[in-house]
Amino acid sequence: MRDFTLSTYRHLLTTLQQAGYHFLTFEQYCVSQGEGTLPDTPYVILRHDVDMRPLNSLRIAQIEHQLGIRASYYFRIVPQSNQPDLIRAIAALGHEIGYHYEDMALVHGDTTQAIAHFRRSLAYFRRFYPVCTICMHGAPTSRFDGRDLWKYYNYHDENIIGEPYFDMDFSSCLYLTDTGRCFDGYKVSVRDKIPRYQDQWTAAGLTYHSTFDVIHAISSHALHRNLMITTHPQRWTSSTVAWTQELLLQSLKNIVKRILIYMTK
Ligand SMILES: [Zn+2]
Repeated sequence: MRDFTLSTYRHLLTTLQQAGYHFLTFEQYCVSQGEGTLPDTPYVILRHDVDMRPLNSLRIAQIEHQLGIRASYYFRIVPQSNQPDLIRAIAALGHEIGYHYEDMALVHGDTTQAIAHFRRSLAYFRRFYPVCTICMHGAPTSRFDGRDLWKYYNYHDENIIGEPYFDMDFSSCLYLTDTGRCFDGYKVSVRDKIPRYQDQWTAAGLTYHSTFDVIHAISSHALHRNLMITTHPQRWTSSTVAWTQELLLQSLKNIVKRILIYMTK
């Protein structure tokens, strides 16, 4: 069986369901955390960073919907992600829509321009969904870190209740991301990682390479109780041509990222 196909993704979801996980959107997590009403049972937040090819996101959104699951989809403002019909279709399936912001990179680090750009983009996405959570786009090739905007401004002033990098309690929640086209790609990730906790998780053996490794850990109850699983739907496809393209492109990207990380050391 190939990894990063739609059937593998469905298998991941049904395994989580069989293991008794509750599914929360990030918005639901933030509200419940604020009210002190997070479930006692294991829960999982499915986060999707729609970096490109939003049609793949709709496929994933449909599979989740068929299984009665709601997830969180973060869209970028750039055209390779921001496709109004697809955003509307995903919101119509009951999923949360959020803003995958990269304003600092888009305006080359000018904070006044960046906050204006952020506000305009947020207002735009609120035409599709009452957006109340945001999530940084890692932009590995940019020298600007989107989160630096929050050294000068406060996103709560924009009626935003959560940003995973700041508002997730990773002391009680394991973070898994398919960055690098595997689940242990934090080694090659420039920004999509949780440095303080990753070392503890690695020491505890909570690292998984393939989706099948993650599935096996869930079904054998070896995984941490609470999870945030971030996926980039562009890499999940059942088309052999697109699947091979993504495999080759990601291998190349991982080499470039390793060089970038090496150069900044
Ligand atoms: Zn991204």
